[in-house]
Amino acid sequence: MDTSSSDDMMSWFQEVARNARNVQAETLKMILEMNHGAEYLKKWLGDMDVHNMDAEALQSVYESMVPLASHADLDPYIQRIADGETSPLLTKQPITTLSLSSGTTEGRQKYVPYTSHSSKTTLQIFKLAAAYRSRVYPMREGGKILEFIYGSKQFKTKGGISAGTATTHYFASQEFKLKQQQTNSFTCSPQEVIFSGDYKQSTYCHFLLGLFYSPQVEFVTSTFAHCIVQALGFFEEYWRELCNDLFHGTLSPRITLQGIRTSVLDIIEPNPHLATWVSSQCEELEESDWYGLIPKLWPNAKYVYSIMTGSMQPYLEKLKHYSGDHLPLVSAEYGSTESWIGVNMDPSSAPENVTFTVVPTFSYFEFIPLHRQACDTVVGAVDDYQEDDPVPLSKVNIGQQYEIVLTTFTGLYRYRLGDVVEVAGFYEETPKLKFLCRRKLVLTINIDKNTEIDLQLAVQKGSQPLLTSGAKLVDFTSHANITDPPGHYVVYWEIKGEVNEHVLARCCKEMDAAFVDHGYVVSRKTNSIGPLELCIVERGTFRKIMEHFIGNGATMSQFKTPRCITNKVLLKMLNLCTIKRFQSTAYK
Ligand code: AMP
Repeated sequence: MDTSSSDDMMSWFQEVARNARNVQAETLKMILEMNHGAEYLKKWLGDMDVHNMDAEALQSVYESMVPLASHADLDPYIQRIADGETSPLLTKQPITTLSLSSGTTEGRQKYVPYTSHSSKTTLQIFKLAAAYRSRVYPMREGGKILEFIYGSKQFKTKGGISAGTATTHYFASQEFKLKQQQTNSFTCSPQEVIFSGDYKQSTYCHFLLGLFYSPQVEFVTSTFAHCIVQALGFFEEYWRELCNDLFHGTLSPRITLQGIRTSVLDIIEPNPHLATWVSSQCEELEESDWYGLIPKLWPNAKYVYSIMTGSMQPYLEKLKHYSGDHLPLVSAEYGSTESWIGVNMDPSSAPENVTFTVVPTFSYFEFIPLHRQACDTVVGAVDDYQEDDPVPLSKVNIGQQYEIVLTTFTGLYRYRLGDVVEVAGFYEETPKLKFLCRRKLVLTINIDKNTEIDLQLAVQKGSQPLLTSGAKLVDFTSHANITDPPGHYVVYWEIKGEVNEHVLARCCKEMDAAFVDHGYVVSRKTNSIGPLELCIVERGTFRKIMEHFIGNGATMSQFKTPRCITNKVLLKMLNLCTIKRFQSTAYK
């Protein structure tokens, strides 16, 4: 990226951050003017003359007249769009494309409107983030990026609207090409590899090309950290075959899709010298359980760049292992299918401490203050938080937790995103957010309330005894089993390494004791929730779960392991793959 455009991006951001309050009011006015007359807005605002209203006045009228909404409230409108209705429903301009959220956290995929504004903001945030990164880690012009990215199939809805995941739309867009040109760094793989539709064949080719260009690779990336960890696990199995292809300039017969065969064979050439070097590096790496794999094979890579926060945190340890002691891990930006939210301005901060600075031009943001409730006040309540009225971006407080509410250019109005964040500070007038978790409870049977973070912490604590055996937790999920009264938590673990049963029984007990939610503790003590059950599943189970989602239209690029499973097919799969079961002896 040339430094002048990089400087321009950062100056632009400083300017909008300095005026965040006004920029937000203007952003809302722009959204409402653009979509004036759309059926949904008309329902709440009537024929109000938004064009001639002052931006700040409009902001308070909007907040008082338009209610907070969930996806379910907007879904009937989105369905009508999907069915081909062309009258202005959510936006004035007809929506021609819909995005599918990954659906792995909510249990079902959701359609969200996608417009050219969506790819424009994607390009903008990527350029802005690249500007901050190149300030700390300058890049060589024309370098390569080893990107583990995967497009899923784009398809037409009943009404002829194009649908696919947001990442897929972006990888297929002009903006994806522009980003490479404008940041002067190019992905190793051609479109045919990204869009093969078969993640194993794509991963193989990503590696082959990544190795072929090894000296030029400037950084290694994927949307979510899980994807890099998954890919590197695949590399451990297939490196010999990859070296053979690199040596001879050939492509393994496991790559059966003609499109990618042709495009990859067009690029690679025999390179015996490089192949021999890679092979000797891998032999050494295999001895050290692949510690430092990334810097060893891509010695000029400056960092690894991916989303490592929230539900990706459990993969951080493995990613650190592959990155060795010195290669920095840079947390990627915060956004969702619905809207981009914040940029990582400080790429050198550790993933555990990263904050995301809200970009106030992307959407109109509101924040619902959340207060974790004490247990005795929540009996019968449906949520674990008490809420205050939403506040605009300019009124958030440091240290306070909030749920984010979005009003977007793509027709979502006061839409509850369901993410919980904490305000960690400010850049000029705009808040810096720490991502905490999805708001939805994952484990609850009666008065107990556990979010994704509570589960994550309990698993982290409970898995400590594994370290003494040199084993590692690969992945986990959970289920609140209420079929056998009084009901109990079941936590499924996939482990790498041998562990004896005493250690696993201890893990189970410690994990049960590590759920500190008062409702859970009280219920366990009174036996109104039964002992926690730890199920050890066979190796490869979580890969099967991922493949189940990918088979149902999710994309590898957006996949997040669901931390709580209620789907009957998946539960059956988990139970069939269970090789050992333990019952907690805590609270005896
Ligand atoms: P999807 O729209 O399915 O791709 O998922 C978007 C969700 O992923 C967000 O609502 C967050 O819960 C999560 N997410 C996105 N970016 C980050 C990030 N940088 N850190 C943590 N979680 C994130």
